[in-house]
Amino acid sequence: MAPNRYLVSFDARRSFHQFTDILVIGAGIAGVRAALEVPPDLNVLVVTKSSLRESNSAYAQGGIAGVLSPEDRFENHIEDTLIAGAGLCDRQVVEMVVHEAPNQIGDLIRFGTHFDLENGELALTREGGHSHRRIVHALGDATGHEVMRALLAAAQERPNITFWDDTFTLDLLTHERRCVGALVWQQGLGPLLVWAQQVILASGGCGMVYRETTNPPVATGDGMAAAHRAGAELRDMEFMQFHPTVLYVAGSARYLITEAARGEGAYLRDVHGERFMPKEDPRAELAPRDVVSQAIFRTMERTQHPNVYLDLSHLDPVKVRERFPGINRVCRSFGLDITKDRIPVRPGAHYMIGGVTVDMQGRTTVPNLWAAGEVTSSGLHGANRLASNSLIEGLVYGTLCARGAVEAVEKNRHELRALPLHFASDPDARTDSLDVTDLTNSLRSLMVRKMGIVRDQARLLEARQDVGFWCGYVLLREFNNAEGWELQNMLTVGRLMIHGAITREESRGTHFRSDFPKRDDEHWTRHVTSPPFPNSDAERAKGLFG
Ligand SMILES: Cc1cc2nc3c(=O)[nH]c(=O)nc-3n(C[C@H](O)[C@H](O)[C@H](O)COP(=O)(O)OP(=O)(O)OC[C@H]3O[C@@H](n4cnc5c(N)ncnc54)[C@H](O)[C@@H]3O)c2cc1C
Repeated sequence: MAPNRYLVSFDARRSFHQFTDILVIGAGIAGVRAALEVPPDLNVLVVTKSSLRESNSAYAQGGIAGVLSPEDRFENHIEDTLIAGAGLCDRQVVEMVVHEAPNQIGDLIRFGTHFDLENGELALTREGGHSHRRIVHALGDATGHEVMRALLAAAQERPNITFWDDTFTLDLLTHERRCVGALVWQQGLGPLLVWAQQVILASGGCGMVYRETTNPPVATGDGMAAAHRAGAELRDMEFMQFHPTVLYVAGSARYLITEAARGEGAYLRDVHGERFMPKEDPRAELAPRDVVSQAIFRTMERTQHPNVYLDLSHLDPVKVRERFPGINRVCRSFGLDITKDRIPVRPGAHYMIGGVTVDMQGRTTVPNLWAAGEVTSSGLHGANRLASNSLIEGLVYGTLCARGAVEAVEKNRHELRALPLHFASDPDARTDSLDVTDLTNSLRSLMVRKMGIVRDQARLLEARQDVGFWCGYVLLREFNNAEGWELQNMLTVGRLMIHGAITREESRGTHFRSDFPKRDDEHWTRHVTSPPFPNSDAERAKGLFG
């Protein structure tokens, strides 16, 4: 049996309808920045599946990269991004984003963001892979919280922008292969059809596919899976960036210890107290994330210990507490004093590099569908994202998508009307019960074990088989709750990720294959495109990947 095109059954003749010029899916930095770029004469509806404050953006700690210091140059930021991206960045995209970054930071200040200052100037810090101090931050280590506070406040003052929270986007509606809106679900109301002239997808990443992740629960890859079902191209799904230092204390949420801690001089030590990074890489603790994560993985294997330690005890305690108030607070709640004690850490899934393919304006391969932020693969990050380059990507592409969508609406203004779309799943698939929590936990553990930091063909093939087996019955069901839809989306995304990892027979950036440990520029300086969603019943009957 084939996976369903839509997650739930609907019939436009018997549904509630909503009409808007531009629909934005997601209220993180990319979505809200997009909404703010729409002129007052066009209506924007922004939907988000949880509260407005729940997004990866709101949890960003370290900051936003941009060339702002007189000692720095655009060429340096471009070069650092290209080096981290390990040969897969699109140079034109990198140049465009780096040149736009200072303007976007200026816009954030105009929207009301209060960045940290030093002697009246923007305070700039440095993170792994950056050759210069160029990261602006806010509230010490709570940059995302402050930026999102300011952006949301600015957007809520605009009469043309409407926010719907607690509104789960199930699928993108397509008609004659064009995107015409979205199928959303509101508790108590059920399925609702939102018809839009243009749709901007800004639904973020999919860290929740892994058991250990820095991402909040909303990051289940819904937008990636919906775009896949709608026929959009996805690529580079093998590249999940693991953050090297995630707090590892039994019972704690997997709290991220920002890169900036190492930027300010923190050391990584093994269980015996040895600093191991200087032996691994000349940049030691400031090497890019993939290098540090893989070194930690090897150290944990060598010492047979489930974590390593971050040590700030040699730094000025007053400065440490002032610079990292959030980390200090969380660690104190577990009886750890960050100025004296070593902090137990291990890598966790952090940032999805792959996603929906977009061009330099944010256009996807589906007409009328744009995408911005972590849901996309824009070509900025290549095979590995440079720290603090993602918030800026969301800002730049959110702006570009909105401009493109506005131009498209203005070129072709037409009366919106509901189209006679409908979908019905197999009635039997709606009744059986499944233990969704058990399956979700199984998938998230499998991804750590078989599709984690170090991969090989044997484990990847096992992962493909297991996930394929689960997809075989879960994707046919029809659920009426978010847990079920999220499981379906995570299975879909996990499957595409495993496909990418099996296909790429080399090691590059965040993708490390122990059976192909070398980078192979001759064969693999290219993207891996995900297999398309089968769009006919006959194709679907063959299964997702034939
Ligand atoms: C702990 C942490 C620290 C980080 N620190 C930094 C940093 O310092 N600098 C940096 O550059 N990057 C950082 N990142 C990465 C960065 O935060 C993200 O890449 C970026 O915020 C993504 O923005 P976005 O707008 O694309 O997605 P998000 O901010 O994740 O927003 C996605 C939105 O889509 C909504 N959504 C998802 N699915 C659905 C659905 N089915 N229906 C409706 N709505 C949906 C969500 O509710 C949310 O509103 C960090 C990430 C984490 C997790």
